[in-house]
Amino acid sequence: MAVFIYKFGGTSIGSVERIKAVAKKIKQARDQGDDIVAVVSAMSGETDRLTSLAKEIQQQSIDREMDVLLSTGEQVTMSLLSMALIDLGCPACSYTGGQVRILTDSMHTKARIREIDDKNIKADLGKGNVVVVAGFQGIDDKGNITTLGRGGSDTTAVALAVALKADECHIYTDVDGVYTTDPRVEPKARRLKKITFEEMLEMASLGSKVLQIRAVEFAGKYNVTLRVLSSSFKEGSGTLITYEESQMERALISAIAFNRDEAKLTITGVPDLPGVASKILCPIADKNIEVDMIIQNIAADSTTDFTFTVHRNDYQKSKEVLEQVCRDLGAKQVTGDDSIVKISIVGVGMRSHAGIASNMFKVLADEGINIRMISTSEIKISVVVDEKYLELSVRALHKAFGLEKENV
Ligand code: ASP
Ligand code: MG
Repeated sequence: MAVFIYKFGGTSIGSVERIKAVAKKIKQARDQGDDIVAVVSAMSGETDRLTSLAKEIQQQSIDREMDVLLSTGEQVTMSLLSMALIDLGCPACSYTGGQVRILTDSMHTKARIREIDDKNIKADLGKGNVVVVAGFQGIDDKGNITTLGRGGSDTTAVALAVALKADECHIYTDVDGVYTTDPRVEPKARRLKKITFEEMLEMASLGSKVLQIRAVEFAGKYNVTLRVLSSSFKEGSGTLITYEESQMERALISAIAFNRDEAKLTITGVPDLPGVASKILCPIADKNIEVDMIIQNIAADSTTDFTFTVHRNDYQKSKEVLEQVCRDLGAKQVTGDDSIVKISIVGVGMRSHAGIASNMFKVLADEGINIRMISTSEIKISVVVDEKYLELSVRALHKAFGLEKENV
């Protein structure tokens, strides 16, 4: 008998009809003798709705209360799904994060799981029940309700898979798998049958919304077999996220990711001295602004030019901070651009192949697209280009790297 974790995203349980359909699917699996733990998100739009209610009362929300509020979304769906299962004659029992005892730290709204007590769930499974767990939430050691950050139900599912040594963890979502790129930008995008944890992690960090980053990290670390599947339960769909295998080496590039909401800032004429990089970035970090790409280069007059990217929402704030830094350091000037995007090609195949970067740059050059910044990792090459070139760049790269063709 196998143990499966099934996670259902907001759309899959967005109405009573959908909840009933999910219950039917779970019952089918249960009838085959498998143990099922279902992890649910809140109904689609519910977490946003609750967030805006809080904002109507207070601009600066109180994190502890926010967690109490947000955790209710999942509590609604867990009980409704449990009822739908019981209604079908399938014994079920629902649990909040605290009732399972998913112990987290006390970082409200972005807590991390420390430990999961599997006793209650195992006892229930032993009695033949389907267990339904509210995703996205836990409890700290003082009994406060915590939440795991937006999209955190994925992490609940993977963490439960680890705790219960589940055979597979299925993430049912409104897309039927992981695609070579966003099909809204390139309609020829193709669903990947397999992708490695590392690639998926890059994709998640690069803004692909399919899975929460933490969930992928966790799954990779503990080798959880993870599948992304369509919540319409279409046969033969899905993407398996797995370890690298030799047969996967054939594809050089697996996917193209992009981030629309980027902005870049440059401070020029910085004295080239030890410590300047930290003097530039510490005040940015102090304002809780996340920095992504960083480039530093020595100019001919042996001063330094320093460029980095931030989320577009943080552009104005970053610029103000940097102008102060510029005065403090006696640097020349601050410039910036908030209409840029980042486009990345991702693939474990690039590890063992030369010339991928030059190939990428040539494809963009042939389209007359100017590259503003470049950064690379072992399995990713990212470029920053003007926003207006986003679609053109993605489509040209998708074609050039043969992603339209089935190769995995
Ligand atoms: N309901 C939470 C959110 O919308 C958690 C989740 O769906 O994974 O972010
Ligand atoms: Mg989600």
